[in-house]
Amino acid sequence: MHITRQAVERLASYHSPDWPIVSLYLRVDREHITDDHYSIRLKNLLKQVSDNPGIELSRAQLEAVEADLDRIRVFFRDHGDEFGQGVALFASSAANLWEVYETPREVGNHVEVDFRPVIAPLVRVLELCEPFCVCLVSRDRARIFMGHMSEFGERAVRLDQEVPGQHEQGGWSQARYQRHIEEHVHQHFKRLAADLFALFEQEPFRFLILGGPHEVVSDFLDYLHPYLRERYIGTFYVLMEATAKQVREEAAKIVREWLRQEKQRYLDLLRNEALSNDMGVTGLEKVVEALQMGNVLSLIVDDRLEAPGSSCLHCGAVQPPAAEQPDRCLYCGGPVRRHANIVPNVYANAYRQKANLVFLTERELQEQLAELGGIGAILRFRVTPAPGS
Ligand SMILES: [Zn+2]
Repeated sequence: MHITRQAVERLASYHSPDWPIVSLYLRVDREHITDDHYSIRLKNLLKQVSDNPGIELSRAQLEAVEADLDRIRVFFRDHGDEFGQGVALFASSAANLWEVYETPREVGNHVEVDFRPVIAPLVRVLELCEPFCVCLVSRDRARIFMGHMSEFGERAVRLDQEVPGQHEQGGWSQARYQRHIEEHVHQHFKRLAADLFALFEQEPFRFLILGGPHEVVSDFLDYLHPYLRERYIGTFYVLMEATAKQVREEAAKIVREWLRQEKQRYLDLLRNEALSNDMGVTGLEKVVEALQMGNVLSLIVDDRLEAPGSSCLHCGAVQPPAAEQPDRCLYCGGPVRRHANIVPNVYANAYRQKANLVFLTERELQEQLAELGGIGAILRFRVTPAPGS
């Protein structure tokens, strides 16, 4: 099953207080011919966590982790080749958890034992999994495609065979012939718009992109249901016979550009709010503080940002980065865990609070955010300064 937003939301709220969960991310494809086979990476990852789970566990918990590692080995031996790019797997047999998802390759290779599923790598690739629909449209034909950045394919072809060709004009008057054609085009657009809406109701998509000659697309837009109209983000032109690969490439360009502009808007909003010292904060320390108050509406983060830190194994809180790293959680007194890079915990926790996550992967946007500390948050509510500060 391919990873979906709903699945990530479910994993985000999952907590298993008694039994540890093994979260495993594995890239199974080969980008370069010289890449290791994934089975070697898998073996190393599992050995690493078996040698050192990274957190303190009771004997029974350790045995449960070992049993899950065995189950994972067997699973990949039998099913590893069924996956195309990447896999995310969450296992805690003692807690009745076993979930496996197909993911984009960008999840990388990572294994971790914790009492919550490690969701950061999934949260990070959700943008690549935003479903979009592409419809090539002409006055008598249409092709419908569905997919996202890493998986894409054709769903339906529609050919209106009723539309008479030029050669069939026969003895009709020019005007009557023209009206006849227009009526067919009208019916074709109406049925196509209904098909697209039915597809949307079955499998909601975030974006709709239309392919076709400008005047055809602009006529067709009037037929779209308002829900689809608001998801429409652009048009490109290819021949009706284009391959799925060509269609995906053209559509992906439009999606990427739309996302880039959206990120720029978030960045501008953050800068304005932070400068007026009102509803925005910047820098890791202030963001972590806002996070702990449940006050992050949108988190904007440079994809490359890294910083050491610690998080609580009990309540999950990221500890304030400036403080002396404590042995116990500042908020609940639970045991804490050190991380070479705490940033993924920050955005995973923001996601758990239902914040919008904005990852900046574009160099020019990253440079703008660098001036603000590489990370910032737009807040849900205004924080009243303490008296005297
Ligand atoms: Zn805690």
